[in-house]
Amino acid sequence: MTSPNLTPTKRIGDPRCGSRDTDDSPSCGAPATWHIAWRLAPLAEFSLICDEHMAQAQRTFVYEDRHPADVVCDMPGTGWAIGSPSYCTLPSDDTDRSFLASKEAPTT
Ligand SMILES: [Zn+2]
Ligand SMILES: [Zn+2]
Repeated sequence: MTSPNLTPTKRIGDPRCGSRDTDDSPSCGAPATWHIAWRLAPLAEFSLICDEHMAQAQRTFVYEDRHPADVVCDMPGTGWAIGSPSYCTLPSDDTDRSFLASKEAPTT
């Protein structure tokens, strides 16, 4: 299983690419066009990514699912609803999250 360096950014409803070319370089920061699920279970791991890094990721990495990035993808509390196509949604009630991909891996 290969997945890239992930740079989680604070969710502010402004999807930006968090890809880094190396461990030391700053994250890309371009407007994200794709929301990628590197994996959905047991711990889901997601990235927001721009066109350029999407093309790179398709050559280099394995991912399980993706959908076009939307503002809701970058909102606090958003969950990934598995489906065809998948989408992100903000559950109105915290108890109603069972249909969403399991919580994201904790990142530091
Ligand atoms: Zn990028
Ligand atoms: Zn999304």
